[in-house]
Amino acid sequence: MTATHEFYDLVVRSRRTVLPEGERPAAVAVVDGRIEAVADHGAALPAAEDVELGDIALLPGLVDSHVHVNEPGRTEWEGFGTATLAAAAGGVTTIVDMPLNSLPPTVTAEALEVKRSAADGRCAVDVGFWGGAVPGNTGELRRLHDAGVYGFKCFVSPSGVEEFPELDEEGIRAAMTEIAAFGGLLIVHAEDPGQLTEPAGPGYAEFLASRPPSSEGAAVARVARLAQRTGCRTHIVHLSDAGSLPLLAEWRGRGARISAETCPHYLTLTAEDVPEGGTEFKCCPPIRGAANREGLWQALADGLIACVVSDHSPCVPELKKGGFDTAWGGISSLQLGLPVVWSAARARGHGLADVARWMSSGPAELTGLAAKGGIAVGRDADLVAFAADKSFVVDPAALRQRHPVTPYAGRELTGVVETVWLRGATGRSGRLLRRHP
Ligand SMILES: [Zn+2]
Repeated sequence: MTATHEFYDLVVRSRRTVLPEGERPAAVAVVDGRIEAVADHGAALPAAEDVELGDIALLPGLVDSHVHVNEPGRTEWEGFGTATLAAAAGGVTTIVDMPLNSLPPTVTAEALEVKRSAADGRCAVDVGFWGGAVPGNTGELRRLHDAGVYGFKCFVSPSGVEEFPELDEEGIRAAMTEIAAFGGLLIVHAEDPGQLTEPAGPGYAEFLASRPPSSEGAAVARVARLAQRTGCRTHIVHLSDAGSLPLLAEWRGRGARISAETCPHYLTLTAEDVPEGGTEFKCCPPIRGAANREGLWQALADGLIACVVSDHSPCVPELKKGGFDTAWGGISSLQLGLPVVWSAARARGHGLADVARWMSSGPAELTGLAAKGGIAVGRDADLVAFAADKSFVVDPAALRQRHPVTPYAGRELTGVVETVWLRGATGRSGRLLRRHP
């Protein structure tokens, strides 16, 4: 850990530097946007700029592998400019954009180029892309893989938009077989359509009853069995039901290469909290009861859930009007993920290193973003100064996302993002990323 370079572009020092091995006083030295050295806090490191954070923590930039930007096509819902400004303000330095809700959906190599053109020059953080696996595009998956997507998203139940249909069992098997052939990754929205019903009314209780925990368990079991048979690396997105976790563990024990993520809202909100008509809390699968929430925290502590990502899924406010039976299902609060999770994590005795593992290195490992996800020599100098003891009250007007709709309005949270360095600089433009072969 000695300095090897004579002069650095930037040195950032903190008594609470969050390294892969844990939190300790350290100095991080940067050359050409990369971390060149990690040294003792007081080390002599001549640099153009030397920043002393003292007791403000220094975190690796967060990697959010589950963001629906919606541009092009539904840019009035959200766009690359606003989504990435929100990300940067929240300490997220890399996002991976979901293939649906934009038009066209990212289900062909041509559609990926359309999306890249829409994003080009508009991003405040680095941006990668998922492809989509839908009925009829199995032959396109390898082209998308070669064009640099980080993996493929599919649904096993209706997605909410007609241009991105779900796969049936044969479709999943075919996609997995193809993706396994080139060593790719399939990520799955797992709710069994046979167990979903139309809500019997507009209230939250009726919505919750229409998407029972067993719908997740049934889908996880089906997907895990196919993952085991095909050898396809598979990941369950936004797991809400803690009762499905033993199934995941069981199939992993039987050789399925399957992992799971959950989201800040499942970890911090409960069905009991949802106010009448509060459709900003509506998402699929739904936020469940308080006991379920504790099961998700246990799975994070045990390492069974490896990632916490936003599933930022905004829409125009008009689509959030009406009851829980008709409003758009999606929670948008990308900017708040870090303080939301940190506030709850520290109350449960977790440290910043745990949060960095769930929200930075975990998603970086999932996607194969080897230059991201940690403060370590050779990686991109994506760094976040985080005042971990400072509190604030969520003011929706302060959010950079396109529409100020959030279930966290008025909540007091702990942890303020003070400075963000993207590849060693503040205010730098984001790059469009491609998976490296
Ligand atoms: Zn999503």
